[in-house]
Amino acid sequence: MQPQFYNIVNDELRSSKETHRVTDPRTEEELWECPVATAEDFEDAVTAAQQAFTKWSQTTVPERQALLIQLADILRANASELASILMKETGKSKILADIDVQASVAQCLYYSQTALQDEVQHEDTHSRVVATHIPLGTVAAICPWNFPLILSNIKVVSALVTGNCVIVKPSPSTPYAVMRWVELSRGVLPPGVFQVLNGGAELGAAMTAHPGIAKISFTGTIAVGKKVMAACAKTLKKVTLELAGNDACIVCDDADLDVAVPAVASGGFFNAGQVCVASKRIYVHESIYDEFLDRLVEVVEKQFAIQEDGLAPSVFGPVDNRVQYEVVKGIIEDCRNKGYKIVTGGKTEEVKGKGFWLPPTIVSRPPEESLLVQEEQFGPVLPILSWSDEDDVIKRSNLANAGLGASVYSSDLARAERIARRLEAGGVWINQFERPNFGAYFSGIKDSGFGGEMGKQGLLSYAYTKCLHFPK
Ligand code: NAD
Repeated sequence: MQPQFYNIVNDELRSSKETHRVTDPRTEEELWECPVATAEDFEDAVTAAQQAFTKWSQTTVPERQALLIQLADILRANASELASILMKETGKSKILADIDVQASVAQCLYYSQTALQDEVQHEDTHSRVVATHIPLGTVAAICPWNFPLILSNIKVVSALVTGNCVIVKPSPSTPYAVMRWVELSRGVLPPGVFQVLNGGAELGAAMTAHPGIAKISFTGTIAVGKKVMAACAKTLKKVTLELAGNDACIVCDDADLDVAVPAVASGGFFNAGQVCVASKRIYVHESIYDEFLDRLVEVVEKQFAIQEDGLAPSVFGPVDNRVQYEVVKGIIEDCRNKGYKIVTGGKTEEVKGKGFWLPPTIVSRPPEESLLVQEEQFGPVLPILSWSDEDDVIKRSNLANAGLGASVYSSDLARAERIARRLEAGGVWINQFERPNFGAYFSGIKDSGFGGEMGKQGLLSYAYTKCLHFPK
């Protein structure tokens, strides 16, 4: 039997006249019908959220945290169904789909233990000032496709623990698992607190314009992020933007290659490079360049080879959707047409019979101004550049238009830290590839974002801080 998917408004399952189907990126099979939310669904969801907010906003942090534990239990109990839906809609292997579910469980549990506390901000002989954090209202979570559950769930749990209602809009490329997740969680939270609507740019834009939405938490491209921010200005909505990066990775001459080579391979090719903080530009010290490149190619060919069977133990997969597939294909073809040295991969036609497959591709020393180096590839193609002067590589690493993550490999931790502190990015990883930690603030600087999420600091963007001034 075909699984059914619904928009969820006020705990009600809603179908729609308009539907769409996602293409399985592994096989190009058309998946299930998915209802597209109407303008009326959206209006009803905002009304339901506003009604629910009156009581929900008065619940205590421990009450809400107890409900997060119940949400984690539901995710766990339905992990296998959610992972199999994710595998179909994203093309992820079982290992990757399981990560999407299990990390979402961990997010619920993390916030069941972490919340904003009141704090005394000032005290003297005349007064005592206590800062307290109050919810904003209804949050709209506008999400991308690369980790459908993790990236929407972080917004959901952050909004809920701070006492907000939340309406999730998954990417239309990957709506199914998120819709099922909200459906499964019905009954845990009061109706109207946690809702989901499927739709594309039109629905996203409507969310950014609606006066009943207090905050937009957006993850996606820089171009759309700018539109979101401009639209939010009209109603002075709070806004968090988690946007694209083009992460530099610096490998020093004293790096332990037994650590650096496999880590850089994972940084570049985990989930076929479709990670916002993937290592996207690799700068290797000239004195170890040849050895590093040979060893990297060997690891990548062995560990990131295409495995058509989603159950194979692999963290590599196809490109998630046709639009992104064409983007990455175009970047590889540009490298080929310009005569850059492709040391592995590079094929873009007939890679497999069906599916949005591209082989892991490594390009040696493309020019700094090439498309591959300047643009976010967000796919399985990696430029390996070289350097010999520390100031020069830091200058090349720091971009004017992006600064999400970065990584540094050196056996000398003091040296690695010195470089890390000079890299203009929201997070820098040392002797490891970029892996967000839900206890650590995650944000992009420059065009890579506005505000951030995760950790205690991330919660501040889901609340107003109100000061209570007591006399002494
Ligand atoms: P996208 O910007 O195309 O779409 C993101 C979401 O915005 C989707 O839900 C889409 O329907 C919606 N949208 C489109 N137009 C809109 C509009 N005018 N108003 C409101 N919403 C609109 O991004 P994508 O292709 O889904 O995601 C890939 C990008 O996301 C990559 O650039 C990646 O680096 C970035 N990303 C960033 C992070 C991070 O935390 N910084 C995490 C994951 C992905």
